[in-house]
Amino acid sequence: MTLHINTPLIKSQALSQRVNRKVLLKMDAWQPSGSFKLRGIGHACETYAAQGATRFISSSGGNAGLAVAYAGRVLGIPVTVIVPESTPQTARDLLQQEQATVIVHGETWQEANALALTMVKETDAFLHPFDNPLLWEGHATLIDEVHAAGEKPDVVILSVGGGGLLSGIVAGLQRNGWNDVPVLAVETEGAASYQQSLQAGERVQLTTIDSVAKSLGAKQVCQQAFALAAHHPIQSITVSDASAVAACAQFLTDQRVLVEPACGASLAAVYENVPELAAYQTVLVVVCGGATVTITQIQDWATKFAQGTTQ
Ligand SMILES: *Cc1c(COP(=O)(O)O)cnc(C)c1O
Repeated sequence: MTLHINTPLIKSQALSQRVNRKVLLKMDAWQPSGSFKLRGIGHACETYAAQGATRFISSSGGNAGLAVAYAGRVLGIPVTVIVPESTPQTARDLLQQEQATVIVHGETWQEANALALTMVKETDAFLHPFDNPLLWEGHATLIDEVHAAGEKPDVVILSVGGGGLLSGIVAGLQRNGWNDVPVLAVETEGAASYQQSLQAGERVQLTTIDSVAKSLGAKQVCQQAFALAAHHPIQSITVSDASAVAACAQFLTDQRVLVEPACGASLAAVYENVPELAAYQTVLVVVCGGATVTITQIQDWATKFAQGTTQ
């Protein structure tokens, strides 16, 4: 049994025609928790449950916390999520809908996370949002499914926050013998911790994050994601917040699916037909999804960017 589902792999006619390539979409927006995170977090939660964990603790008010809450509810294990005051009510509501205990603490995520870590007792399991080999192992199942479907892409496009998804996808490519399939790693300009690290040749810690793509807002990527660039063909690009949001809006029209700007970043690479795609005929986009956005918010952002303001 797994907590995640085998998601549809579809060829998008709208995107394929637009860029004159075969565009395959792996629809992880349709995971029951709303994002790909359930693959890795579900796998980690099942592992910890088998080891006797009696409670799961998370400090994520986003898709990682939601995946923990979903996993705990299905496994019958209580979940506590500590979030900062800045966490929007919609995110708190989603966590409560999954029956997690939500504790609001501190102004920033650092403070909420610090409290979470002090709460972890011996039989509790703390779930990190991206830096955990169990997560990467779970995320890798996405590529297992593509491989089983018999569709070998020329390139995989994915979004990078802390680099857990990247680490898992590369693990999946390698364990399926697809070492020759490159990855295009996409970030928004204001959350480019991966690109800056690759350029510096060492892991960079951003001082601030400035992007509407909140789920990409890790100040520093995990060591694994950084190290992988030496072992796998990985190209890094950034897109603007405006084009990530525009991609969300266009994707809603084209595929009738609502995703966060974190996912829109990857879609923007296709909609903009970035030069990095020039050599490829079959493109696989990891539609990572995201549950913390509303249609109104996408429309508001789109309007603001069109007016030239970024707040
Ligand atoms: C977490 C998340 C990401 C980034 O994943 P990392 O493993 O942190 O790199 C991208 N998109 C969505 C929707 C997410 O929830």
